Amino acid sequence: MAETLETPETAPAAAPANAERTPSGAAPSVPDTSGMTPMMAQYIEIKTANPDCLLFYRMGDFYELFFQDAEDASRALGITLTKRGKHLGEDIPMCGVPVHAADDYLQKLIALGFRVAVCEQTEDPAEAKKRGSKSVVRREVVRLVTPGTLTEERLLEAARNNYLLALHRARGGSLEGEETFALAFVDISTGAFRVSSSESARLAADIARIDPREIVVADRLLEEPALRALLEDTGASLSPVPRSLFDGATAADRLARYFGVQTADAFGSFSRAELTAAAGALAYVERTQYGDRPPLDPPRPEGEGARMLIDPATRANLELMRTLSGERSGSLLSVIDRTVSGAGSRLLASRLASPLTDVDEIRERADAVERLHGDTYLRERLRERLKALPDMARALSRLVMARGGPRDLAALAEGLSAARDIAGLFETPDGEGPELARALRAIAASPAVLHDRLASALDEDLPLLARDGGFVAEGYLPDLDEARRLRDDSRKVIARMQGALIEEFGVRALKIKHNNVLGWFIEVPAAHADKLSADPGRFIHRQTMAGAMRFTTPDLADLESRIANAAGRALALELELFAELSREVEAASGAIKAVADGLAVLDVAASLAHLADADNHARPVVDDSLAFEIRGGRHPVVEAALKREGGDGFVANDADLGPQATGEGGDAGRIWLITGPNMAGKSTFLRQNALIAILAQTGAFVPAEHAHIGVVDRLFSRVGAADDLARGRSTFMVEMVETAAILNQAGPRSLVILDEIGRGTSTFDGLSIAWAAIEHLHEVNRSRALFATHYHELTALSARLTRLANATVRVTEWQGDVVFLHEIVAGAADRSYGIQVAKLAGLPPAVIERARAVLDQLEEQDRRKPAEQLIDDLPLFAALQPATAPQHAPAAAGPHPLVEALAGIDPDDMTPREALEALYRLKQASREAD
Ligand code: ATP
Repeated sequence: MAETLETPETAPAAAPANAERTPSGAAPSVPDTSGMTPMMAQYIEIKTANPDCLLFYRMGDFYELFFQDAEDASRALGITLTKRGKHLGEDIPMCGVPVHAADDYLQKLIALGFRVAVCEQTEDPAEAKKRGSKSVVRREVVRLVTPGTLTEERLLEAARNNYLLALHRARGGSLEGEETFALAFVDISTGAFRVSSSESARLAADIARIDPREIVVADRLLEEPALRALLEDTGASLSPVPRSLFDGATAADRLARYFGVQTADAFGSFSRAELTAAAGALAYVERTQYGDRPPLDPPRPEGEGARMLIDPATRANLELMRTLSGERSGSLLSVIDRTVSGAGSRLLASRLASPLTDVDEIRERADAVERLHGDTYLRERLRERLKALPDMARALSRLVMARGGPRDLAALAEGLSAARDIAGLFETPDGEGPELARALRAIAASPAVLHDRLASALDEDLPLLARDGGFVAEGYLPDLDEARRLRDDSRKVIARMQGALIEEFGVRALKIKHNNVLGWFIEVPAAHADKLSADPGRFIHRQTMAGAMRFTTPDLADLESRIANAAGRALALELELFAELSREVEAASGAIKAVADGLAVLDVAASLAHLADADNHARPVVDDSLAFEIRGGRHPVVEAALKREGGDGFVANDADLGPQATGEGGDAGRIWLITGPNMAGKSTFLRQNALIAILAQTGAFVPAEHAHIGVVDRLFSRVGAADDLARGRSTFMVEMVETAAILNQAGPRSLVILDEIGRGTSTFDGLSIAWAAIEHLHEVNRSRALFATHYHELTALSARLTRLANATVRVTEWQGDVVFLHEIVAGAADRSYGIQVAKLAGLPPAVIERARAVLDQLEEQDRRKPAEQLIDDLPLFAALQPATAPQHAPAAAGPHPLVEALAGIDPDDMTPREALEALYRLKQASREAD
């Protein structure tokens, strides 16, 4: 390596993207590069332009890192830190990763929150030399690698979309006010591009639904502590950018330019904020990809309210996509995912994360599942053909962005071939429902000519990189065949030449070899070297080794140039064809993407049908009513776990929370108050009903005998208890924050799951809060709700709250131990079984005995008023209502009691004394109302 290093005055540092940015960590000023070698000056210039990235600086077969970058990377990757040269008497730290293994190192760095700028040599070193012996090879950053802009197979999860989210706020202000946000999210590895709107109250829920890997946001917004905390909580990598990236004035133009259309109106109607977010996402993609344009779908609007809103806590607690400990295994998704392709798995995950609220759309999806549920033969043949389908969307993206290889071309050929077979399994798209018909039409329109060309051009055994050559099938390009013959023949000629020389000199150990320095040469053991050196006109001495000598001959030199020419020509022809095929692929990218999407839709429908068959799920009725009627419902994850363990089997249970269940036919849902001992199955029952609603609105069948669900617009849950010490919240505080969110936002179309309220405080505090929360849910939110509690006192509320029903989980006792039957029945638990459960859990017998004795004493002393009497003593909940009800609440029930009392007074009919007494009564009532 002719280039030498010299140190800069300042060693610029990189930091993980999420690291706290301190003023000292800001971009270093450009150091003085005078007196440095041209190469170091170049390094410093490039590094200075990318201060927040580790710089992968290409030198030959390695990416080298220097100074602070080298220290950070060697620590993060566990690779050796070496040194190269000195600066001001100090060693320059350096480490490097081989180019061929760079993906693995990138993966680790990205996972740790680093961003990486990849700097390549963009000219041939020979060209640089022509400019003078000291000139430096031109290098440029060709790409910034960030978590949300990955395309490499090894850096991506097959079953998960890799979304980059651009977040833009429509108006200024703080989080407290109602503000509108626009969200544009794009997956450059598949081309998916969507745009939607949100409001401050639901922003966290919307981001959780999208589950982005990286969020791009104007740096000014991150200065707002509330918004920053909200975004940090998402777990995504945050990328602050200058506000200018979100430029409303040029947004529409940028979009139109990217997609090569006249006007952005072609994509549908977007608000100005949505256009700005979409253009911000594109600007970031262009900035990180340095001009490479991934083949994106045109941005698609996601209609407001078209999705069930599930806040992040509910999403996490219900373990939809991941368990609370962060694993996929054990989540709802892991149990229902029977897809057989990466794209199918991603589509299922995104649908599950974002259940629909439009009844027609839900019906279309469920129709597709039903069709394939009813035809096992078709379904199994379809799944067979979809199995091991290559990831077409991702291969396409790589090819268009010039990061693809021959195997990506083969993936497309294979995918298009599968599409052809699959289209043949169905008679005609017209005979199918809209969901399948759309998918089949896209598949039928697959670019057949391209498929045939790829299939015949590509060899069977393919190298990873085009530059290695050897991927074009024999017989496809006559010129290539010719060049290859010449190349291979020459090798045979060499073998013959070697044989002849061995014969001639009688030296069996004579070899013709090749290396990069000498090219082809003859090597003989030193003992026989004189036989060749005796004829210097024929054998030219090149090198003396420890035990051998090396020679070349004019014949060998001639052969060498013929081989090199033929091999070079063969490779050039292959690369030319590769570029041509990539261009053809790019030209057909829209159709290819449609085929890939169509196949994913088929995979999802077939997998859900397969699941329904295998696990006995039924098609739910989903409509615009407020019904919530489940017969024989089950918890899919618990059921699967019990099955695995070979236990007694899951006990199915009913639920009915619809208004008609009360006989009132009103506009409000019903609350089930569930009491019962620990471990009886309350939590399981609560969660299974939430999961059934989610599955139904995803378009799937549900684990129940029968289900009738009026569309749920928002799902709220308060289950499990965990503290959030990182944010300074105790268990009880977390519980109250979640409860507050529910009571402030739930409406009649919502489904609310409350598993214990008030457990983390004193009994009276907890009971009072739970009591008031139930009254609020019943009177103000009027939601369909399931409320599990250990406070038996609460069951008394059913006497006053007409839409509150008591339910309990049956248990029996056998030989002094409690036996759980897991069956939900009407009524209240007769007593608690805490001590029995503690005994089952293995508390020492002495402790159990002592606890029994204490309990007897406490029950003896309990002088509390029975709850029934409390009810009579407490004023109606309506009297306590705040003046402002939540958004979804109907008007407060009935007039204020003071107004009512006044209406009952006729002053003309009263004696002065009666009037005075009435005045006192009013005064007293007003004090109570306060
Ligand atoms: P706690 O009050 O302590 O939270 P719980 O009443 O909420 O208890 P769950 O956690 O729902 O109880 O259930 C405890 C265990 O009982 C589950 O892990 C499961 O193994 C089993 N179980 C729950 N419901 C059923 C059911 N319907 N059929 C069979 N087993 C069940």
